[in-house]
Amino acid sequence: MIMTDIIFRNDVVAAHRDNMGGDESIIRAMLVSSDKDHLVEEMLDIPKTEGRIRFLMRKKHGTPFEHNALVFYVEAPIFVFREWHRHRIGWSYNEQSGRYSELPPMFYIPPPERPLMQVGKPGAYTYVPGSESDYLWLTNEMKEQATSQYTSYQNRLARGIAKEVARMSLGVNIYSKMYATCNARSLMAFLSLRTNEPTATFPSTPMWEIDAAARMTEEVLKQLFPLTYNAWVEFGRVAP
Ligand SMILES: Cc1cc2nc3c(=O)[nH]c(=O)nc-3n(C[C@H](O)[C@H](O)[C@H](O)COP(=O)(O)OP(=O)(O)OC[C@H]3O[C@@H](n4cnc5c(N)ncnc54)[C@H](O)[C@@H]3O)c2cc1C
Repeated sequence: MIMTDIIFRNDVVAAHRDNMGGDESIIRAMLVSSDKDHLVEEMLDIPKTEGRIRFLMRKKHGTPFEHNALVFYVEAPIFVFREWHRHRIGWSYNEQSGRYSELPPMFYIPPPERPLMQVGKPGAYTYVPGSESDYLWLTNEMKEQATSQYTSYQNRLARGIAKEVARMSLGVNIYSKMYATCNARSLMAFLSLRTNEPTATFPSTPMWEIDAAARMTEEVLKQLFPLTYNAWVEFGRVAP
């Protein structure tokens, strides 16, 4: 039997890797409509830009928010990827393959602050903490499971079983990694669904782990598109 040291993590990563455009490129796309896109001074006028972006957001004129790009490097358990990949429009993905590479022994274990118990009914659950003993029991059980799953994976590989078959022993809390590219409009749509923000016009109830990752991408939007971000928050976190 082959044994490998398993790495247990309780974090997600959604790091900024690259970007193109900003608030001014949104205004350039808007101004082509009135043949003013070549007027550089129009794009450098911050108060005007702010007013225009608020106008676009309020009126839900969404397409000018698409002429830019944000690239994120994501490391998270596979159950987060399953949810993230549901966002089809304005998103591009490339993920590590379990067919072409051996997946590293890295598994997600919830951190102590992650609520463990659900209360209520489907569609209206709220989540509350478990007891300390619930947490210890669960995390020990998850560690045992992960160790057994990964041992089975390695035994299969050692026997020459194809990676795409050997991986069938692994659970959805094994980590994966991907590059995810979007634009400001598709990111706002993602954030409106994948963050739990009581001040939003339509508050969503996402899973805790994807909310944590989405908050990291929100911070990047705030830094790189400050006027867009402020207008999006002002108008209830509704994507234009
Ligand atoms: C809290 C929560 C719970 C969820 N629960 C479940 C669940 O139980 N089961 C489940 O399967 N999924 C579930 N989902 C996933 C959800 O159904 C969406 O797949 C996911 O949120 C992506 O949203 P989207 O389709 O708006 O995004 P995108 O795919 O990025 O689409 C963006 C927008 O483009 C338009 N669009 C895209 N495709 C079409 C189309 N084919 N026809 C018309 N318009 C289109 C829509 O306006 C859409 O809002 C849940 C999501 C959340 C946030």
